[in-house]
Amino acid sequence: MNTGSSNTGTGADHQTPRIFNFSAGPGVLPEEVLQEARDNLLSLGQSGLGIMEISHRSQAFESILDEAELNLRDLLKLSPSQKVLFLSGGATTQFSMVPMNLLPPGHTADYVITGEWAKKALAEAKRVGATHVAASTEGDDRIPGDRFRRVPKNQELRFSDHPAYVHVTSNNTIWGTEWHWEPETAGRPLVCDMSSDFLSRPIDADRYGLIYAGAQKNAGPAGVTLVILKEDVLSSGIDRAKLPIMMNYHTHIEGHSLYNTPPVFPIYVVHLVLRWLKQKGGLSAMAGLNQEKAAHIYRAIDELSGFYRGHAEKDCRSLMNITFRMPSEVLEDRFVKEAQAQGMDGLKGHRLAGGIRASVYNAFPMAGAETLGSFMREFARKNG
Ligand code: PMP
Repeated sequence: MNTGSSNTGTGADHQTPRIFNFSAGPGVLPEEVLQEARDNLLSLGQSGLGIMEISHRSQAFESILDEAELNLRDLLKLSPSQKVLFLSGGATTQFSMVPMNLLPPGHTADYVITGEWAKKALAEAKRVGATHVAASTEGDDRIPGDRFRRVPKNQELRFSDHPAYVHVTSNNTIWGTEWHWEPETAGRPLVCDMSSDFLSRPIDADRYGLIYAGAQKNAGPAGVTLVILKEDVLSSGIDRAKLPIMMNYHTHIEGHSLYNTPPVFPIYVVHLVLRWLKQKGGLSAMAGLNQEKAAHIYRAIDELSGFYRGHAEKDCRSLMNITFRMPSEVLEDRFVKEAQAQGMDGLKGHRLAGGIRASVYNAFPMAGAETLGSFMREFARKNG
């Protein structure tokens, strides 16, 4: 299936039509961004040097980094006290950096466990210091489909006495749940892994002590991780001289993300995506589109609830990763294969969750969500 554009394929002749990419990440990027990146591979503007070949200390790259930071600040309405960092090592490296920089000896870090990524973040914090689980929605393994169906309500959170910080995962990529309210931590520093819904909607950024997000879902390609932090969350009780230099946030704050060679090309693409987001009307406009896209798919689930079983509880449904099961695994396999044959890729659920997962990030086209909704109706009619 062609997504309505021409001349945008990956083949050397650029004739291969693009298909609908429901991948959970790396995910779909805006076509305009890909085209512009392609045009600058051999020569960035009139420079005669390709974007992957320029020095990270060049004026051209510094302008890219500066504009990216300005646009990010504007989109998220960041305050001057919030630092923006472009790091490498993925969100997984942040699982370690956060406790190494924020959890001093003798203190406790609180984690809200809403999925596999939250569990991984907790496991890394445990290597560094004392932790406490403020809430878990892991559910009962003996009850089919009970695992991580929701995120906790604010009144369910039980904090330790004086946590150094509270860590949450705003969107649970594997299970398809998302916080639709800001976690309430009564003044305790809030740290959030926003990898899979970063920039998909407006947030009250000032409430967060530290936000991190791998770029490869909504913000760009894999290879760069965005970190937004208030310096006052960095604990003074930590002996920074003992931290590996790359694991110390101060290194990157002082070096303006240029302490070592940063991922130049991924940062360049993030910069193009941020421009694209602004052109599209910013995060409120994005949120509206994302709601509409997700509604095409959730509506099909709800209308055919005898056949499709949505995994997430309704008030926790993710607008980014839509997860559902069908009456049998045989049908789920057939669904994935037939959808693939009709130009819809990446619908197989994560191996831990099974079933189907449709990821509809910012750059995913509305037509793709409509097409999947129609396909679901037709598939249920033929197989129900
Ligand atoms: N957190 C979340 C919510 C994720 O979805 C992912 C990756 N899918 C990660 C963390 C890990 O990110 P990375 O692979 O960039 O280390």
